[in-house]
Amino acid sequence: MTHNDSDLVLDGNAAAGLLQEIFVLEITTAQIQCEACGSTQAVGSLRLYAAPMAAVLRCSHCDASLVRAVRTPHGRWIEMTGARRLRF
Ligand SMILES: [Zn+2]
Repeated sequence: MTHNDSDLVLDGNAAAGLLQEIFVLEITTAQIQCEACGSTQAVGSLRLYAAPMAAVLRCSHCDASLVRAVRTPHGRWIEMTGARRLRF
């Protein structure tokens, strides 16, 4: 019997259960790691730069941008390029 990597490839719907478990959790207590300086801190301890429809959360150690979130008429968007990982 041979192992074939294509046997492990499914579409994103197959991850629905896991993703729903993650995205209903309390985000402010989640631990986020900064890609720039490597520090890990609670999302709630990041510095917030707020605008009426958007938020930019910056690392409290090096001021790198970790999370950018915006609410538009077309949906809610989140971009986390500056974060290495998020742990709930
Ligand atoms: Zn940092």
